[in-house]
Amino acid sequence: MTTTPAAEPGGHEPSDEQGQPQIRLDRHDDEQVIAVDTFTGGMSHVTAGFLLTGPRPALVETGPALAVDALLAGLASIGMSGDELATIVLTHIHLDHAGGAGDVAAAFPNAEVVVCDVGARHLHDPERLNASARRVYGPLHDTVYGDCTPIPTERIRAVGDGDVVDLGDRHLEVLYTPGHAKHHIGLFDPDTGAIYSGDSVGVKLPGMTAIRPATPPADFHLEAALDSLERYRERDPARLFLAHYGPVDPPLEALDEAAERLRLWADTAEAAWYASSELDHVAETLAARFADEYDPEAVADDPYGRERLELLSGAASNAAGLVRYFQRRDEGTLTDVG
Ligand SMILES: [Zn+2]
Repeated sequence: MTTTPAAEPGGHEPSDEQGQPQIRLDRHDDEQVIAVDTFTGGMSHVTAGFLLTGPRPALVETGPALAVDALLAGLASIGMSGDELATIVLTHIHLDHAGGAGDVAAAFPNAEVVVCDVGARHLHDPERLNASARRVYGPLHDTVYGDCTPIPTERIRAVGDGDVVDLGDRHLEVLYTPGHAKHHIGLFDPDTGAIYSGDSVGVKLPGMTAIRPATPPADFHLEAALDSLERYRERDPARLFLAHYGPVDPPLEALDEAAERLRLWADTAEAAWYASSELDHVAETLAARFADEYDPEAVADDPYGRERLELLSGAASNAAGLVRYFQRRDEGTLTDVG
């Protein structure tokens, strides 16, 4: 089962010769959704911020702090002025999605920041979030992500399953969708049928032939992730937007594919882990087994090709999250989320 590519390939520098941020917009659903490229890591098609237009516009995802200039330039180019943005929604607080939230909130002083109640406190006091990102990302923290700046508590709205985000002429329904992280929400727009799935469905970048699960440490949870895919399916979505990157069609087939691939990755990692108890062996096994998820020929002119995939959902990160999950399961310390 296949889905269409998430986006046409193309790589760009983050700024032009005059040092101005690059702008890339993809318009969907009669311009009710505009994907604004954050040029994360200086590459196109890594992380999108989705502007949902309407009387009370909302931005879903900000990308990392170091990519905020491109995002703000993109929003300015479609006339989003300082007091107009009503809401900033974060699917979860990993820094490639939420790291720029403090800076975007400062640029849009009327915007309320909507985030899962499980992780909300970290946005007000991001010291631990930044410290743990620094550990996970290593040198990439300072070159690709950057620190999240604090958001005043009065601007943060902590939400849970069933809460609603008002877009003025329609609304978004909050779905609690843990698995990728315990602080993950998805958003469903009943009017357009669109789901914004953050990282909970996986990633599909230019050049990829399949949806790749995103199973990072520290709290990836296999059953919760599969349950979350089922929750999306129950909404019978007309569109499914991945943060990395853009729509995958048809959505129900994409959800089937995501579940199938997640089971395959987990089974492969589990066999390698119990055969060796070596994290490196698990990572190497996954990398070899799933090398065909990326087709270099499809993006022959794309200078960044595989780099995006390694940045976002490489085999080492997925191996580490899966192994941590197996260890917690074996110790009996898995908490029941979802
Ligand atoms: Zn994530």
